[in-house]
Amino acid sequence: MTNPTLQLPNGETISYLLERRQRRTIGLKITADGLVVHAPKRIFEYQLNQVLQQKAHWILSKLKAREANYIEPIQWLNDEHLLYLGTDVQLQITQHSTSKTAVLTQNKLLIAQQDPNNQTLTCRKVIAWYKKQALADFSRRLEIFAAKLHVPTPPLTLSNAKSRWGSCNSRGEVRLNWRLLQAPPHIINYVICHELAHLKEMNHSAKFWAVVSSICPDYKSAEKELKNLSPQLHRL
Ligand SMILES: [Zn+2]
Repeated sequence: MTNPTLQLPNGETISYLLERRQRRTIGLKITADGLVVHAPKRIFEYQLNQVLQQKAHWILSKLKAREANYIEPIQWLNDEHLLYLGTDVQLQITQHSTSKTAVLTQNKLLIAQQDPNNQTLTCRKVIAWYKKQALADFSRRLEIFAAKLHVPTPPLTLSNAKSRWGSCNSRGEVRLNWRLLQAPPHIINYVICHELAHLKEMNHSAKFWAVVSSICPDYKSAEKELKNLSPQLHRL
């Protein structure tokens, strides 16, 4: 069975999913699969079409918005683009008799293995590379900003959290999400300053933000940027 299509006034044709339901009105929603139409069981096609034509503007704008927010999942194959410190890095996978760990040269992340199309292996290697770099990179930044704040450099562990970029516990241990390594340096610096500030203020009071601001004056814009960037960073 093929999906029904709708010819829009602007000439565009879109296909949609039609679900007949026990209902009186026509319901429209935009899902990951596109337009889904819930229609009463006994509605004529021309009536359905009429309603869809009336809603054409809404449908189009919703579909466009979905497209704009859509983040392509990573294909662990040659030429895929990744983010590293806010810049573009391209995967370059070559066939080699022995498997090698990832190496960054200029803007290429080089990987060599027997089967260049082994996406599971490529994914594992890339993530291992990010974690290793993240630990080195974050440790260095933590040291620099701890010195600025006149506090001893706290112990650091990497986290894999889905919702948090960083945390600091009552024992003064800092955890940072390795995925942050994809973000531009000033964003990483902000998260580090934020967690370090918790060594002085274990809350989000005005006093806490004053501490953050003392070592990261642009924290407000950085926080906003990080929020907008989050879906992109979770691609990895
Ligand atoms: Zn906090």
